[in-house]
Amino acid sequence: MMYNFRNFTNVANFVFGQGSFNQLGAILKQRRKPTSAFFIFFVDDVFKGEALAQKIPLQGQDTIVWISAQEEPKTSTVDLITQQIHDDFNTLPTGVIGIGGGTLMDYAKAISLTLTNPGSSTQYQGLDLIKNKGVWCACIPTLSGTGAEVSMTAVLSGPEKKLGIKCDYTVPDQIILDPELTKGVPPHQRFYTGMDCYIHAVEALTGYCSNALGDAYGEKSLALCRDVFLNHENSYAPEVNEKLMIASYLGGLSLTYAQVGVCHALSYGLSHVLKYPHGIANCICLNQLEDYYGDAVSTFHQMVEQHQIPIPQHITKALPEEKLVALAKVAYDLDHMWLHALGKDWKAKMTLEKLVDLYARL
Ligand code: NAD
Ligand code: ZN
Repeated sequence: MMYNFRNFTNVANFVFGQGSFNQLGAILKQRRKPTSAFFIFFVDDVFKGEALAQKIPLQGQDTIVWISAQEEPKTSTVDLITQQIHDDFNTLPTGVIGIGGGTLMDYAKAISLTLTNPGSSTQYQGLDLIKNKGVWCACIPTLSGTGAEVSMTAVLSGPEKKLGIKCDYTVPDQIILDPELTKGVPPHQRFYTGMDCYIHAVEALTGYCSNALGDAYGEKSLALCRDVFLNHENSYAPEVNEKLMIASYLGGLSLTYAQVGVCHALSYGLSHVLKYPHGIANCICLNQLEDYYGDAVSTFHQMVEQHQIPIPQHITKALPEEKLVALAKVAYDLDHMWLHALGKDWKAKMTLEKLVDLYARL
């Protein structure tokens, strides 16, 4: 019998716990053996002047690059920062560290790879296109939900597509899961990114690529999300932040072994064409996807109501037909998502025309 199972990579080291960010200095110290060693920290600029910034254990040539998360990661920014690092330093950094939500973690993951793989990041958007291992990479989430801290993809928007650099080398080497870092996230943002996690679990569990391993992670992630958003209204209690951070982590792992589906395919179109951030784009789509995710959508409506979070509606009402077609084309191209959601014969079940209709509902 022929076996063809992928030999997956996992995050090598992880720390979890309230205040664990304080261990970053000790973790980096182990890697500072040659005196020339230095690190580049990519930090969400929302933390400029905040206590967290003071706690970054800078030494020698270490550098902080502040990056705004107002826009999701772009290939052009990845290329610009990579070039800047090559120009400013004689050698490669010993490592890079991403501190922030999915945006900052994906920047760190992507730049870790473009530092050792020549040319534009656009040429690496896709599966297994990276040739060389990147520089050591640590991710430290300050917002829970995307699972980017464990996933094997760094999602980038390029001139042509929103697509991840996906390969074994994209998985970070180290993560620090410190729920305390998420205390200051605004409630709406916490909900939208938290729902990204909920949707990862729902989609991973509902499809043709589902399997016992992905399901095990997905089921626990889903249970934690339900608990956080149904039983703890707007609670930022430490144990609730812990649960959401672990839900995110498990949701990311569930996607290593399964896939996202209809909601993410539609959501990628909204982000790429209309620039909606990922979390809210997912919510806009799931809100209208009862046909595909029935009970999970009813539960989502309950969570929205309980937390009184605005979910934009009728956003495509005034769009010309060609924009709807542009949205549909982005979604249609994501065949790995359709394969999981609808099966091998997905093209018989989902057409560009049907996608235009789905977008017109949003
Ligand atoms: P984000 O990183 O874009 O941040 C959203 C907002 O929250 C920003 O304004 C940011 O400044 C703010 N923020 C973050 N932490 C904060 C804190 N502690 N206090 C106050 N404000 C804070 O949001 P996100 O939803 O985590 O990430 C979205 C990105 O992640 C998208 O680009 C999406 O494509 C990507 N993503 C990647 C994966 C993956 O596996 N790589 C999975 C899902 C999503
Ligand atoms: Zn997502």
